[in-house]
Amino acid sequence: MGLHTAEAIVLRRYPFRETSVTLTCLTDRFGKLKGLVKGLRAQPPRHRSAMEPMTVNRIVFYDTRASQLHLISQCELLEPLSGLQGDLDVMRLAALCVDLVDTVVPLEEPQPALYALLKQTLAHLALGGTDRAALRLHFIIRLLRLAGFHPQLDECTGCGQRVHAGARWSARQGGILCPRCLPEDPHADHAPPELLEALDALADADTPPALAPAAIPALTERLDDFLRWRLDRPLKTLAGMPER
Ligand SMILES: [Zn+2]
Repeated sequence: MGLHTAEAIVLRRYPFRETSVTLTCLTDRFGKLKGLVKGLRAQPPRHRSAMEPMTVNRIVFYDTRASQLHLISQCELLEPLSGLQGDLDVMRLAALCVDLVDTVVPLEEPQPALYALLKQTLAHLALGGTDRAALRLHFIIRLLRLAGFHPQLDECTGCGQRVHAGARWSARQGGILCPRCLPEDPHADHAPPELLEALDALADADTPPALAPAAIPALTERLDDFLRWRLDRPLKTLAGMPER
């Protein structure tokens, strides 16, 4: 049993028994963790964080090894990111980011780059960043790449061969199809080379690169379709997102 300190963004928080909470958080050094905070609801949190979702905290936890539910013995609020609460669109987008991390990131696999991505994206949103459509695109595709869940962008999802021309986008198949494999998904959408290159560049970039506004709707549509088809459970936060 070890005692560890980490920085943690709370993804989900559930009441547990009378006064405690269980939560899922993404940490900087230990990946995604589940934790139990005893007595958190018993007294108003004066000297410690309330561990609200979408806040950045420093936690101390016991790694129990025997269970994936770790005992969090200390929590201190570092950044409340209160700017996320001001605007409905901002809140929705932040909720989507957290929801996606909760869905596609496996437990207990250290992913510092993924932590940095979530923290930077939420902080940017909390500060009222206006380039939300580009931020959203970058977050989704970068997260998918870091989590090993990204769409196949250069090889055909049907035959596995490199596609040089005439690629189509099949959300259902999880990436592109070559012209010969098109019968596998006759509804596959156009995927011109510049669209695939833009997705690849977004997935590689640590921070959101500049995007031509005209390119955003097609990219957003294809990525959202990919998520609708490929995730194990539908994301409520994905529906009804404004495509701006
Ligand atoms: Zn093929």
